[in-house]
Amino acid sequence: MNATGYFTHKDCWKHEMGPGHPECPERLDAIEDRLLITGVGDALDRREAPQAALGDLELAHDRMLVAAIRGLSDRLADDIKAGGPAYAQIDPDTSLNIHTWNAALRAAGAAIAATDSVLAGEMENAFCAVRPPGHHACRNTSMGFCIFNNIAIAAKYALERHGLKRVAIVDFDVHHGNGTEDIIRGDDRMLMVSFFQHPLYPFSGADTHASNMVNLPVPAYTKGMEVRELIEMMWIPRLEAFKPQMIFISAGFDAHREDDLGQMGLVEQDYAWITQRVKDVARRHAKGRIVSSLEGGYNLSALARSVEAHLRVLADL
Ligand SMILES: [Zn+2]
Repeated sequence: MNATGYFTHKDCWKHEMGPGHPECPERLDAIEDRLLITGVGDALDRREAPQAALGDLELAHDRMLVAAIRGLSDRLADDIKAGGPAYAQIDPDTSLNIHTWNAALRAAGAAIAATDSVLAGEMENAFCAVRPPGHHACRNTSMGFCIFNNIAIAAKYALERHGLKRVAIVDFDVHHGNGTEDIIRGDDRMLMVSFFQHPLYPFSGADTHASNMVNLPVPAYTKGMEVRELIEMMWIPRLEAFKPQMIFISAGFDAHREDDLGQMGLVEQDYAWITQRVKDVARRHAKGRIVSSLEGGYNLSALARSVEAHLRVLADL
């Protein structure tokens, strides 16, 4: 048995939002190439992501949003047949193509299937190499490159379908996970810890006062060592006190110093360190159970190296 699962699906490559868009299929190619070249991929239990059931999407989203995205996708298919444009716009940064609906179901389905496999004891932890990402998707709104909130859906799934009492969400993307906060704020079965550059898109999270949110807004040019100190002081004591039975990670790698969508200064070793600290908490309280899902990370080389570092820690390589 490989200790770490790796969930993905070819549909996640087919979703794209137009030429030059940073959230592009090549991100997954970069990750796959790196795992192949380094041999890290050989140590992972590779699984095909199933499609999420609509009822599972509705654990985190309003039924109207799910219906609206499906309707938009169906209308796009009709428009394309009639010679119309290849994309349906959701916001200035986010659009659907003809494959987005299936990709979004696979992205959420990956986190759900990973949750099932980890809770069944088939693997200790898992990483989902998927797109579209999820942490900006709110209960009623898709936005910011995200369609459905993969991690919030999986966290709710662990509570509602598996009967867990406490799950933690760790979000180390450079952007505030406003969608996840929107979905879980005030639900004390879930604790969310995050840091994010502020001010930066989506310009939220700095003034949150909710008992289950640990938000750490940090200024541009914050380096890894400063982030590590904050995590040690602010995340770890809350996570230890909460004693999560499972930990979900919104794994965005756009706080990397080579990433142009943020201006922070993390490097691969920082992602390895964060992953190790989260893993320590998971081993103490949660039988090691972690499900991590890809969010941002737009410099292809830095993304691939950072995912490798994250996976080496998850898989004890
Ligand atoms: Zn991001």
